[in-house]
Amino acid sequence: MAQEEAERRKVQVDAVHLDLGALSGVVKEALLFSYGVACDGTLLEGSRLVVTDVPIEVFCSVCKVPRTLKSMQWFCCPECGAATSEILHGKELVITALELKQ
Ligand SMILES: [Zn+2]
Repeated sequence: MAQEEAERRKVQVDAVHLDLGALSGVVKEALLFSYGVACDGTLLEGSRLVVTDVPIEVFCSVCKVPRTLKSMQWFCCPECGAATSEILHGKELVITALELKQ
């Protein structure tokens, strides 16, 4: 997607910013490694991938507020301990910004 945008604008990309949720199923280190390989020979070659880790946030139906989980093994509200399955954040795998070379 970032490459298509770079080609459309005929510019080189300096950096790609990505939100990566803890539940996205993607390992950050593997993503950073494969990014470099995938960019070789494209307009994205030499660009940086800046990954922002997104923590798991659930909605606690007892407290009636969103809560951030410290562990993905334990889907309970950190305040009241109620089990919760309503995930608000943590599944993200989204490009949030492109930095372009001028
Ligand atoms: Zn709670």
